[in-house]
Amino acid sequence: MSWNFETDPKFQEKLDWVDRFVREEVEPLDFVLSSPHAVKDPNFIRLVRPLQEKVKKEELWACHLGPELGGRGYGQLKLSLLNEILGRTEFGPTVFGTAAPDTGNAEILAHYGTKEQKKRFLEPLLANEIVSCFSMTEPHGGADPLVFTCKAELVGNEWVINGEKWFSSNANLADFLIVMVVTEPDGPPHERMSMLLVPTNTPGVEILRVTGVVGEKMPTHCYIRYNNVRVPADYLLGKRGGGFIVAQTRLGGGRIHHAMRTIGNARKAFDMMCERALSRFTQGSRLSEKQSVQEMVADSWIEIEQFRLLVLRTAWLIDKHQDYKKVRRDIAAIKAAMPKLLHDVASRALHIHGSYGISDEAPFMTLVARSYIIGLADGPTEVHKHTIARQTLREYAPTTELFPRSRPLMEFAAREKFRGMLDDLAGAEVA
Ligand SMILES: Cc1cc2nc3c(=O)[nH]c(=O)nc-3n(C[C@H](O)[C@H](O)[C@H](O)COP(=O)(O)OP(=O)(O)OC[C@H]3O[C@@H](n4cnc5c(N)ncnc54)[C@H](O)[C@@H]3O)c2cc1C
Repeated sequence: MSWNFETDPKFQEKLDWVDRFVREEVEPLDFVLSSPHAVKDPNFIRLVRPLQEKVKKEELWACHLGPELGGRGYGQLKLSLLNEILGRTEFGPTVFGTAAPDTGNAEILAHYGTKEQKKRFLEPLLANEIVSCFSMTEPHGGADPLVFTCKAELVGNEWVINGEKWFSSNANLADFLIVMVVTEPDGPPHERMSMLLVPTNTPGVEILRVTGVVGEKMPTHCYIRYNNVRVPADYLLGKRGGGFIVAQTRLGGGRIHHAMRTIGNARKAFDMMCERALSRFTQGSRLSEKQSVQEMVADSWIEIEQFRLLVLRTAWLIDKHQDYKKVRRDIAAIKAAMPKLLHDVASRALHIHGSYGISDEAPFMTLVARSYIIGLADGPTEVHKHTIARQTLREYAPTTELFPRSRPLMEFAAREKFRGMLDDLAGAEVA
């Protein structure tokens, strides 16, 4: 029997340090700096670099990585406990070396990269000297990668890329892009695409627009045209036609990391909700004494705890199996559950704060907007529910009977089983 819901006391000490450090040193950055990915901004260098050094000294840098890549090899469960705290802030993940999309991009470079690719792209990325971009979604289709058309052809010793990508986050700040392209147009549907590494300053990489989303101080989501972009043949990441496999490796980890941080987002709203409920006095009593407000507090507490347990259990399963394919349904479940959790908790917190709650002085509208973002980025909720349902229904079989397992049939079987043992079974029949 090995169920255990306790945190190892030594690690708890580290978490306590992180909690204090994030509140006192990291959270203030959210109010004075622009993007947590603008690593070359002089203000970023002045304010963020010293904090990153402190994190390294505490042996908490890039905890998603194994020791061979400079991390601590803590695994996903410990990472969850850490990310819950970092999720309260915008700059937390950057200060601790665990910011998306670089974490996922580093993961696939570590997994599929050649020695030269790791030296050129992975090493500076892990040191946060540069940032990266994952360029997959296209303007005419995001949720269905089978419709992608951006292509690359091998001409001599170079790949020549042509096509467009939409919402490639941080392309305007990144040193390199990982681009998903059609290289095998006649291959089976899931073997048509490959991943290519593209330095952002390669001629022909044209950023047509940089789009912003609510709550972000700096626009970073890029509409890109790849116009005869040439990269060396050995900038292929993984195998030819292996783009889907590489993408899955990346997205599995990325989705659970977002879920871990979402717990922090929801708790931030919840903490403010409780403080406000206890502080505001109206119509003869505090808000906290009104039943409808108590219900909002209770519902939010239940939903956060339920979601947190699902995330921790999934993290534990990843550590156990070391194989994202075995936890595909679990990851899809937390991905599908997280937008609703954040939306509901942040909306209640907003409502309890009245006019202040809807104002731009409060964080709630940003959190509600974020709930929509996490319902789209890395695939819309519907697609993840589809994955859960498909996998679940595979575990069942249709009945060959005319009626479902109905009471008359089950009663008849039960009477047969106990025939001769009970007094009143005479005459049991079923039509
Ligand atoms: C903040 C943010 C950052 C992003 N960063 C990146 C990035 O760095 N790189 C990148 O490549 N992409 C990125 N994306 C894009 C993201 O991956 C896509 O938005 C997502 O895959 C959905 O694609 P779409 O926007 O084209 O929506 P569509 O595919 O057009 O879907 C729109 C809606 O249609 C419905 N729908 C779609 N498919 C189904 C289905 N099978 N069943 C039922 N309903 C369905 C859903 O309601 C869905 O929300 C980012 C998105 C956001 C919001």
